[in-house]
Amino acid sequence: MANLSGKVAIVTGAGQGIGRGIALRLARDGAIVVATDITGKENEVAEEVRKLGGQGMALRLDVTDGKMAEEVARTVFDKYGHIDILVNNAGIYPFKPFMEMTFNDWYRVINVNLNGVFNVTRAVVPYMVKQKNGRIINIASIAGAVMGFMGLTHYSASKAGIVGFTRALALELARYGITVNAIAPGAINTPGAATGSEEQVRMMINAIPMGKLGTPEDIASAVAYLASDEASYITGALIVIDGGWSIT
Ligand code: NAP
Repeated sequence: MANLSGKVAIVTGAGQGIGRGIALRLARDGAIVVATDITGKENEVAEEVRKLGGQGMALRLDVTDGKMAEEVARTVFDKYGHIDILVNNAGIYPFKPFMEMTFNDWYRVINVNLNGVFNVTRAVVPYMVKQKNGRIINIASIAGAVMGFMGLTHYSASKAGIVGFTRALALELARYGITVNAIAPGAINTPGAATGSEEQVRMMINAIPMGKLGTPEDIASAVAYLASDEASYITGALIVIDGGWSIT
């Protein structure tokens, strides 16, 4: 367990899947967790946090809305007096072959996955700069950031973009004691990812050296580590968590 006692963490897309796993893990480690999402499920996650004996709240946040992101950051700062951890997790991955891709398909994915990371980070960074302390953890993907994936050109571009953003921002914020890192998950068992047929899932598992899908907790434990004092000298890094899939 990481010691995150009293640290205030904002998690985007926290209503289910990896975001929910991150929110619960950070709460278990003592953080005050602000679970945000567009679905309403953020309220259930905040309730789960309370049941664990943790603290925090739920807020609606559409990451594509920069003004809403500013309001969320202000609300969190006004309530708790600091914002220590931001986890940019919200993301969508609608498969579409490139030859069928419309402008809207492309812009929607870039808007949620990449502009969303910019919007929320832009809203939170001024508070972290004033504190001279902060942890920003961006959830990328092995798709785009490490390897190619059929049907995911838009998604891969957005996730490779997150890695570039992470490295450049890490340089700009190091002098303020703020670290910026990214995590590239492989195939993680989440509601959003549960769209493939049994046959497709079996083929994917066969391609993964560890022979199984990852869990939200596998990602959450790396987030907890990057958010902890143990990781204070790590910045601009990309941590791949994929059961060895991308090294085959
Ligand atoms: P998920 O189960 O679909 O959960 C994502 C949550 O984010 C959902 O509640 C979703 O709402 C929400 N969301 C969508 N658009 C949003 C917006 N504009 N603003 C705020 N929240 C929004 O996804 P997941 O599988 O946990 O994935 C989480 C992150 O990990 C994503 O960035 C994804 O790209 C990345 N990732 C996942 C995998 C994997 O195998 N699962 C692998 C690599 C990377 P809706 O349900 O309404 O869309």
